[in-house]
Amino acid sequence: MKSLSYLNKYFLKYKWRLLLGILFLVGTNFFKVKLPVYIGDKFNGLDDLAGKTDAYILDEAIMIGLGYIAIAVIAGVFLFATRQTIIIMSRMIEYDLKNEIYQHYQRLDYAFRSRQSTGDLMNRISEDVTYTRMYLGPALMYSISLVILFIFAIVEMVQINAVLTLFVLLPLPLMSFLVYKVSSKMNQYSRVVQGEQSNMSTLVQEYFSGIRVLKAYGGQKRVNEKFNDSSDAYLKKNMRLVVVNALFLPTIYVLIGLSTLLVIYVGGLFYFSGDISEGNIITFIIFVNMLTWPFASIGWVTSLVQRAAASQERINEFLDVKPEIVNTNMDTFSFEGEIEFRNVSYTYPEASSPSINNLSFTLKSGDTFGIVGRTGSGKSTILKLLTRQIDPSEGEIFIDGKSLKEINLDAFRAEMGIVPQEVFLFSDTIANNLRFGSAIDVDQARLEEVAKKAYVFHNINEFPKKFETLLGERGVNLSGGQKQRLSIARALIRNPKLLIMDDCLSAVDTKTEEIILENLRAETIKTSIVVSHRISSIRNATYIINIDDGAITEEGTHDELIALHGSYAEMYRKQLEENDPS
Ligand code: ATP
Ligand code: MG
Repeated sequence: MKSLSYLNKYFLKYKWRLLLGILFLVGTNFFKVKLPVYIGDKFNGLDDLAGKTDAYILDEAIMIGLGYIAIAVIAGVFLFATRQTIIIMSRMIEYDLKNEIYQHYQRLDYAFRSRQSTGDLMNRISEDVTYTRMYLGPALMYSISLVILFIFAIVEMVQINAVLTLFVLLPLPLMSFLVYKVSSKMNQYSRVVQGEQSNMSTLVQEYFSGIRVLKAYGGQKRVNEKFNDSSDAYLKKNMRLVVVNALFLPTIYVLIGLSTLLVIYVGGLFYFSGDISEGNIITFIIFVNMLTWPFASIGWVTSLVQRAAASQERINEFLDVKPEIVNTNMDTFSFEGEIEFRNVSYTYPEASSPSINNLSFTLKSGDTFGIVGRTGSGKSTILKLLTRQIDPSEGEIFIDGKSLKEINLDAFRAEMGIVPQEVFLFSDTIANNLRFGSAIDVDQARLEEVAKKAYVFHNINEFPKKFETLLGERGVNLSGGQKQRLSIARALIRNPKLLIMDDCLSAVDTKTEEIILENLRAETIKTSIVVSHRISSIRNATYIINIDDGAITEEGTHDELIALHGSYAEMYRKQLEENDPS
């Protein structure tokens, strides 16, 4: 339960709303307990009606009815006001908490994100926060309400008969206990059902998105069987839940019935001994019914609180993760173009051997830096280190002579244009996808300019809606090469001083590649870094390294590397042959 104390700061934030809510609860319960007493009194007054005219009795009955309605309406108005305050407060806290989790996620670095699955996080934001909200809203409201109602009801009942009060109250704890047991089982089973359901939807989602592969390999039969299995499991688990659910209400009704019988029997004895009136018995019977639900809700609330505590614990655990990479410097920073890696090594947390091995190189302003190497040699890792998504395990990186760890990271990143190896486009318009790369709003002319530079303008123009074409699930699908070029345009839109391209021309032909590279040369970029599998992408670079296992094997300009007759020259020869088999 300790984990829930984290939420106290929010109670403090919304203390007036909460206080008002409690006040309204006092109001609603104050009037609620008047109802049974009112009915009892009126019942006792029936004797006075003997010998009165029918018209008089009818008038009296209408007055009694109106009185009852008036009290009930007042109690109802207070109840409405309670929900408007306490339940709304819980929604507000839910909103704050979701924001807090989201903001925290943004602060966390690559290392954490690569350990955690996105699905887990989605769960945390949606499911766990929902459980927490149930504690903040309904659980809190019912608990406070119960305490108030209990006090008011006892006061009223004891005034009539203390012993009978005891008989009314006796079965209630048993009821709470039973409901608690049943709701715990219900929670437990429904968690299992939810698990089955999410298994099933993951399966379906995967099959639908992979439908082309599935059909191509004729996998329908196998997939259908798997789906049927999953569906069966879901059904079985659900049936178990249905049984428990079905037992719930009958159990409560039996208990209410027993309590009512007890009141009638004991109350009857008191009536015959002349200690109470018939009206009092009616009052007590109504109290039994009135107290039953709140007491039943203790059990329900307890299981809600337990579930909320478990959820909040997971949330707290997540909020406690400290980002390893934090930006401590807020000074302005303007990139001059110098980059130095000094004896940098890096080992991924899950890896046994280093991915970058004692790597050193220096770039000056105006350089175009080419990185080649076979797959898995560490090219993308170098870029992650440079953009400070990860920090070196050993060695240091210097930007304009200053340690990367000491410069204003946000300012440095603002000067970069990054084209990642895996293109990511949002399900949004082309224009908005491009604008995403810029902090300031860009006009149509600028959009067209960068699209031309990335040689994707003519493709965009072929769509009827041009820059307003929707991409992704609900829009058009672009080819691999078109996506890559959009991604380049996005990086260019911010006028980067440092352009980083990670194998982002792999899906375009060599002619297009040449056009784009030519356009880029005309840009006012201070330093460009180009990673490629293809030598044609980097042959004009001022400085090229060929890496293997995270270490430099060859370095120099294209001509120098060719002259070495090493693996670079070999790779170049093979690629020339592929392009021109004659
Ligand atoms: P490619 O040309 O295929 O993109 P690359 O040169 O960019 O390859 P990197 O992505 O830098 O290669 O990976 C270098 C090495 O680090 C590989 O052996 C890879 O298995 C390993 N590696 C990459 N990312 C991780 C990670 N998150 N956790 C553990 N090991 C990783
Ligand atoms: Mg890579």
